[in-house]
Amino acid sequence: MKRPILDLPDFAPGSVWLVGAGPGDPGLLTILALHALESADIIVYDALVAPAILRLARSGAALEHAGKRGGKPSAQQPDISLRLVALARAGNRVLRLKGGDPFVFGRGGEEGIALARARIPFRIVPGITAAIGGLAYAGIPATHRDTNSAITFITGQASGGALPHEVDWEAVARGTAVLVIYMALKNLDAIARRLIAARLIAAGRSPDEPVAIISKATTDEQRVIETTLAAAARDAVAAAIEPPALIAIGPVVRLRRELDWLGGVAAKSLNPAR
Ligand code: SAH
Repeated sequence: MKRPILDLPDFAPGSVWLVGAGPGDPGLLTILALHALESADIIVYDALVAPAILRLARSGAALEHAGKRGGKPSAQQPDISLRLVALARAGNRVLRLKGGDPFVFGRGGEEGIALARARIPFRIVPGITAAIGGLAYAGIPATHRDTNSAITFITGQASGGALPHEVDWEAVARGTAVLVIYMALKNLDAIARRLIAARLIAAGRSPDEPVAIISKATTDEQRVIETTLAAAARDAVAAAIEPPALIAIGPVVRLRRELDWLGGVAAKSLNPAR
């Protein structure tokens, strides 16, 4: 059957699209993200964007790693925003490609504001955020009737690397049955992990509460460790869990026993043909 032709927006020269690439599996890209990859003159991408996704770029498109421009190790956020403005002013179709969703712990807001202030036309293309994609591929429903009617996404790390100050752990612990913590394993920092678990337990969560640590979600290297709040830090170290990873906490983790569809796929591979 022939597909109807979609009326997709034009990627105009001199504009910037801030696009979410999803958590890893290229199949989770949106049609708009694919359209942007096929149209862009230059793609400024983050470390978390999977190589398989970058291979979808139009041949001839320039690829620029936002973290490693011109040999400099880690570009600062204002530098990236200035770079986007300069590339757009030079008449390029600039694709700013980010892991997951650009507006979920992705600094898309900062870059969008810089573009707005510079009067550069821009578009935001949402992506599947790591928590949503990761839970789905781990066989854990984000919400489940009779289990939870709310879910909280938290970052385990503020911009400086410490635990974010503005998170009221007591309120979070009491307020939502299901929590998903991003950036909790950055640099495999055991102290940060223990701090998170310890704060939640101190705030009244049961040490036996089920926890899933989901690493490299939706990629061929996805790993899921099931543990408890009290044992999470120890088990993550023992299993040598690698970033990027998420920690999911709450009763929905138990549903994985029946919903682990990926574990049921041959050889536990996302792409058994490879
Ligand atoms: N904008 C992104 C998040 C960027 S912050 C999004 O919406 O998903 C980076 C954090 O996201 C990582 O430290 C990790 O906690 C999480 N993350 C991103 N990709 C992931 C993946 N494939 N598997 C597990 N966690 C991931």
